[in-house]
Amino acid sequence: MGIYLDNNSSSPIDERVLAVMVDTYLNSYGNADSRTHNHGEQARTIVENARKQVASLLGINSSEVFFTSGSTESNNITIQGLEEYALETNKKHIITSAIEHKSVLETVKMMKKKGFEVDIVNPDLSGQVNVQEILDKVREDTLLVSIMHVNNETGIIQPVDILGAELEKRNILFHVDATQSCGKLVDEIRNLKYNMLSFSAHKLKGPQGVGVLILKKKRYRLPPVKNIMYGGQQEHGIRPGTIPVALVAGCGKACEIAENEYKENSQKLKSLKAVLEELLNASGVEYHYNGNQDYCVDSAANICFKGVMSEALMLSSKQYCSVSNGSACTSKSYSPSYVLEAMGIPVEDIESSVRISWGAETNENEFCDNISKMIEIAKSLVV
Ligand code: PMP
Repeated sequence: MGIYLDNNSSSPIDERVLAVMVDTYLNSYGNADSRTHNHGEQARTIVENARKQVASLLGINSSEVFFTSGSTESNNITIQGLEEYALETNKKHIITSAIEHKSVLETVKMMKKKGFEVDIVNPDLSGQVNVQEILDKVREDTLLVSIMHVNNETGIIQPVDILGAELEKRNILFHVDATQSCGKLVDEIRNLKYNMLSFSAHKLKGPQGVGVLILKKKRYRLPPVKNIMYGGQQEHGIRPGTIPVALVAGCGKACEIAENEYKENSQKLKSLKAVLEELLNASGVEYHYNGNQDYCVDSAANICFKGVMSEALMLSSKQYCSVSNGSACTSKSYSPSYVLEAMGIPVEDIESSVRISWGAETNENEFCDNISKMIEIAKSLVV
């Protein structure tokens, strides 16, 4: 199978998370919203404990945590759920960036069809969007600014700290897709100014199929986000439907583990990135990073191997490394990465680029051996 180096797509579940989930499935199978019996109470206690674990990681109040099926749903709720407020206030202008995940981009596209006006900013070659450019686009009728914390394809950290502070001054709702940073950039997220924030548990060694939407209170009031589905009062009506107790318990445990271990993990991630760079430099292969590495996380790199077709490289080195080009959600189509395109990277370089992403659990020796093999293959594929 080779070594797994696609953590940005999904990370391996932590055994301690799995243990909590198995225990919940076996022993706490009640419905967390059942009010008439102890089994319901038991399930509810587990969900509320998970909510506290999430809140503690993010440094917020647990009443601001809403469980969903993942970031895609959280992003949809946060954008579509503002429609009623937009109509009431006549604020129908949305600003986002061209490098957002499709769950943001496709949703704002749909809002545009409904009569909303959308401004989409591009990053520069560094991979970052420009704060001033966004602020210059803010208008009287701006409803929402949605910018991701860390890009899933490049690992480039966006300037959401400065942007959040500026938008707060202007009283503009700000949503941050923190899918790639939650559990990693812990202190940074705790210090961010935002109104809504999304993440999925499976990116931080939790289970797939559960995530969180944070609705931050301002003067005790939640942002004006409404439910987009109907049929239940779960999660205060924001996300109706039976709460998947074991998934939620797994999400909470993953957050607890991340909170306890993120400092130690960040050292491991950093050292793996240094190993990668040493191997690349020692190999003599012609390469460069996509995006300014001063702004990049230590858990991912997007690398252009000059003159190598990335599709060929990935196929030929499959037995050594599981890596990717473009996000998994768009990988069925072979069109060049829209993220790298938006950065202004020439198509031939995009076609020669791969994303490598790892976790603190990645074994350094295996990493070294398998990356070395991949680099050797890259050298043999140069045209
Ligand atoms: N946003 C970002 C930045 C992501 O990387 C992803 C997953 N690739 C998502 C949203 C969607 O997450 P999910 O598929 O778990 O809903």
